[in-house]
Amino acid sequence: MRKKRNKKTKRKRLPARSCLPCTACCTCIGVEELDKAPGEPCPHLTDKGCGIYPDRPETCRNWKCLWLNQKADGKTDVLDRPDQLGIVIYPQNTQLGFAFCVFEVRPGAAREGLARNYIEAFAKRTAVFIMTNPRELLGPPEVLEKARDILAEVS
Ligand code: SF4
Ligand code: SF4
Repeated sequence: MRKKRNKKTKRKRLPARSCLPCTACCTCIGVEELDKAPGEPCPHLTDKGCGIYPDRPETCRNWKCLWLNQKADGKTDVLDRPDQLGIVIYPQNTQLGFAFCVFEVRPGAAREGLARNYIEAFAKRTAVFIMTNPRELLGPPEVLEKARDILAEVS
């Protein structure tokens, strides 16, 4: 007799996402413990990833970009990986509520292609900070208004 297979056993299990070969945030983000400014490549970065992985600072231990936080889906695993997409997206709670901070892996990457499509889609419902110099803020009208109010209060 043929055994019945339920939906769970039929579904192919995909592995959890892991960073390598992406090392984008090791350049994009600032790491206070290392006195490393955003955009500066980390001195501990090697061809094989972090050279001090077991002893990496707290900032690096706690850092998880949006892509890494999401489950593997077998479709966007490579395409959306920050080194391919050109941006690192970091979800964060801010004065404007839940927001996405976007770091460019390559200059101008947040302004083009698939990366821009994602940014514009996020910005329809939440604040998106593009962490360039100067920073850019996108978001729905109510979020931008709140940002103006906060700025007015502090100036
Ligand atoms: S940007 Fe994301 S996927 Fe790339 S190394 Fe950093 S945490 Fe990992
Ligand atoms: S210490 Fe390691 S994980 Fe942290 S930024 Fe440098 S290379 Fe990346």
